[in-house]
Amino acid sequence: MNIIEIKGITKVYDIKTMPFKALNGIDLSFEQGEFVAIVGPSGSGKTTLLNIMGGLDMPTEGEVMIEGVNISRLSERKKTNFRMNNIGFVFQAYNLIPVLTAKENVEFILQLQGVTPDYVEERALKLLTAVGLGDKADRRPAKLSGGEQQRVAVARALASRPRFILADEPTANLDSKSTENLLEIMEKMNREENITFIFSTHDARVMKKARRVITIEDGKVIEDVQKE
Ligand code: ADP
Ligand code: ADP
Repeated sequence: MNIIEIKGITKVYDIKTMPFKALNGIDLSFEQGEFVAIVGPSGSGKTTLLNIMGGLDMPTEGEVMIEGVNISRLSERKKTNFRMNNIGFVFQAYNLIPVLTAKENVEFILQLQGVTPDYVEERALKLLTAVGLGDKADRRPAKLSGGEQQRVAVARALASRPRFILADEPTANLDSKSTENLLEIMEKMNREENITFIFSTHDARVMKKARRVITIEDGKVIEDVQKE
């Protein structure tokens, strides 16, 4: 079974004033364990595509199947639940809660899952250790570097045990060393836990690490290349 399958996706923004077709007939499917880069010029539709694949935004036309579930058919509440339990998101701007420590940022997501407090703490620490931040778990985001904040965001995305993670330009604000660090962590999680990663990027070095590269231009897939 494909973990994500989208068919005939079209996204039109500003339908009433000036319609703009940000996505124009996209068909894509992803299997468990893939490590995929989505590339293309700024404004080509990468963010829109990732948001639609993760159920954060709805397409104007087309179908989105995630783990065999047609999310367009779910009510808002069911969709939110489904998203929380199945999908990990990592954004360009980290989106951490500034008043919470790294550990609390991860725990927050675990608490929404209704698991026991002991488990919450243990799992949060385990995740932060996995991204190399076990010793900085009690720092707030402002006391962490950009690379470290993004690694907290990855730990948080993994908290709900999703089988896949969608990341929108996760290295856009990182220097080359932090970029390398983050990629190593993503590759390790992919290799060892078979977590699927789908990330957009502008960075040729990041793109090189992907095993599949999808190029989007003007809202269309113009190339979809599988390496190896
Ligand atoms: P990318 O991530 O590749 O830069 P986006 O998906 O962000 O591309 O944007 C694709 C196109 O859709 C752009 O032309 C952008 O201006 C437009 N767009 C994105 N979001 C909105 C929105 N909420 N309302 C109107 N237009 C939008
Ligand atoms: P990374 O490569 O992981 O992004 P940096 O090289 O930017 O890390 O930072 C080096 C070290 O300096 C890190 O271990 C980090 O904890 C510390 N550091 C960076 N920014 C801050 C900050 N604003 N406050 C406190 N410590 C910081």
